[in-house]
Amino acid sequence: MLNFYPGPSQVYPEVRDYLTLAYDEGMLSIPHRGERFVQMMRDLVGLMRTKLNIPQDYYIYFTSSATECWEILTQSLTPHKSLHLYNGAFGEKWYQYAKRLRPDSYGQSFGLEDVLDAPNLPVEDDTDLICVTQTETSNGTQVSMNTLLKLQNQFKDPLLAVDATSSMAGANLKFIRADIWFASVQKCFGLPSGMGVLVCSPRTIQRAKTLNDRKHYNSLLFLHEKMLNYQTAFTPNVLNLFLLKKVLEQRPIIKNIDQHLSQRAHDLYTFLDELTEVHLLVENPEVRSPTVIAVKGTDRWVQEAKRLATAQNITLGNGYGQWAKNTFRIANFPAISDAEYDVLRHFISSHYH
Ligand SMILES: *Cc1c(COP(=O)(O)O)cnc(C)c1O
Repeated sequence: MLNFYPGPSQVYPEVRDYLTLAYDEGMLSIPHRGERFVQMMRDLVGLMRTKLNIPQDYYIYFTSSATECWEILTQSLTPHKSLHLYNGAFGEKWYQYAKRLRPDSYGQSFGLEDVLDAPNLPVEDDTDLICVTQTETSNGTQVSMNTLLKLQNQFKDPLLAVDATSSMAGANLKFIRADIWFASVQKCFGLPSGMGVLVCSPRTIQRAKTLNDRKHYNSLLFLHEKMLNYQTAFTPNVLNLFLLKKVLEQRPIIKNIDQHLSQRAHDLYTFLDELTEVHLLVENPEVRSPTVIAVKGTDRWVQEAKRLATAQNITLGNGYGQWAKNTFRIANFPAISDAEYDVLRHFISSHYH
């Protein structure tokens, strides 16, 4: 069974052994205030820094999901309002969640083919947070590190928050170009769903301290204070933390993963582009994501392609949001092997020319 669904996505094959190992080592019932947990967490945080290139002075926290991160950022860092820049379903959903808690939050959408126009954004006074979805999983677009730099230079006071759910651990993110980054482990991390990762700059934690939100079990300050001792505010997903540590131990550094995935994305886009019956949803190569590829056709063609794929034990990702019917998505994630993409290409070229 081949699975190209962009989340929950195929897990690393090694996860099978790590699950047994977690059981055999008694990890599944360790107390989260004990020595073994603290040691595991210390190792894990160190590995996150070295393997993902997270700066030494940035803080790392673990949450239940990326969705929870949206809420934490609103609760703990947004006394007034946030600005949401989006071109697809995930960015818009983040905006909707924020608006329910902070009704003054506002959004600015941009076109699928457009590079986010940083200099001309209508940033209002009292904007606490500027929110960007780095990889929009629903349509396979991305916001470049260069655009983040422009945003950072242009708007000094608001914190810059980046949803990197479908790129963290796949792309070489330049963490210093934003204050807040978060992801879920069921995308590029190649792990079972049910855990989020939150990365914050020193300035973010300064801001959290000034605002002093302590109203929620997952207030950022609670996460922070517990993490100073490598602990969590609530009983965490110890199994997933363990799996994350084991997987990271075996992985190359992110620079190498990024190079590999970029090359593979380039090959896939070139291959798809050359087929006359197949179209790419995103025509502008500058904004195409290397980790999520969206393929477009008529509703009928897409349905048929998915049906034929399923018959050959290949799972393609369904379209999402406004592109639900006329696209399918292909994850280009590290846990999927090159050989599996060869099978996919073979399947596509045997049906379409
Ligand atoms: C998958 C995804 C989410 C949601 O992740 P959960 O773990 O379900 O909370 C949020 N943002 C983006 C961009 C995603 O791809």
